[in-house]
Amino acid sequence: MDLSIIVPLYNEEESIGPLHRAITEAVSPLGLDYEILFVDDGSRDSTFERARAIARQDPHVRVIRFRRNYGQTPAMMAGIDHASGRILVTMDGDLQNDPADIPNFLDKIEEGYDIVVGWRHKRQDKLITRKIPSRVANWLIGKVTGVPIRDNGCSLKAYRSEVIKSIPLYSEMHRFIPAMLSLVGSRVAEIKVRHHPRRFGQSKYGLSRIYKVALDLLMVKTLISFMSRPLQWFGLLSLPLFVAGLAALATSLLPGSEADPIWMGVSFLCMSSGFFFIFAGTVAEMVYQSGDVRPSRYMERKLRVVAPQTGMESKA
Ligand code: UDP
Ligand code: MG
Repeated sequence: MDLSIIVPLYNEEESIGPLHRAITEAVSPLGLDYEILFVDDGSRDSTFERARAIARQDPHVRVIRFRRNYGQTPAMMAGIDHASGRILVTMDGDLQNDPADIPNFLDKIEEGYDIVVGWRHKRQDKLITRKIPSRVANWLIGKVTGVPIRDNGCSLKAYRSEVIKSIPLYSEMHRFIPAMLSLVGSRVAEIKVRHHPRRFGQSKYGLSRIYKVALDLLMVKTLISFMSRPLQWFGLLSLPLFVAGLAALATSLLPGSEADPIWMGVSFLCMSSGFFFIFAGTVAEMVYQSGDVRPSRYMERKLRVVAPQTGMESKA
């Protein structure tokens, strides 16, 4: 199979029909062996029934259904797990991404890139609640992960199958795929894509996603920088605590303060938290060494599979 197109859908009953037509129009002239994976993320409207009806008519279509709403990233992940294409394309199911862009993505992959990321350069969303937070998030993600991508939130992306299948995705992590893939020196390309206003239904997100994205960013940073040496990460976190603890102790022993119990208490608290961090770090290190955590297994597998092909020649 050449190509799998993966579309998470949550209450998109009006969009799915036109979307299926648009994908077919864009992809069938290419003469590829392709499949469309509709992942129904526990929709409460008729999305699943419509998807199933489409699948009955079109043998290219497969439908995966979640029993309840798990979120866009788990839906994407389920599609990726079930996809059999050599190249995988993910996109939104609300007609905001344009399937007519798919051939450009395939060209870039054929040029040798491992992942191609869309950039909605004329994004059709609200300015204050969407475009500005997204600008800030993209800047921050670039700074923290060291992988500057203009539009991490654009779902329209293409990947070599073996590359994307090897990374763990959960929570809202689909926004960090380029950064996660940088772990193995994947070659990342960005291309401009069209973007349309939402025609049917509603956006599933509000400002609350900022909180999730911030925590995911912390997790991704931890994964990227300290996955194989957690003790260093925890050690780093414990340093300011030890410094504060010593400073408090010194203050309590200053002449005139007569072993001030408050400063002694503060010092004890800081120092014991510091030791707790070190302790947590050693436990994390032992877990990592035992080789049973999924990220470590995926890292090793990925390094073996991907690195020789991409030659680690690109930073991103
Ligand atoms: N989506 C999903 N599960 C969710 C939320 C969203 O599968 O819990 C799908 C949704 O149906 C759409 C895509 O993810 O196909 C992007 O969602 P949305 O359009 O609401 O996000 P926005 O474009 O507003 O960022
Ligand atoms: Mg949308």
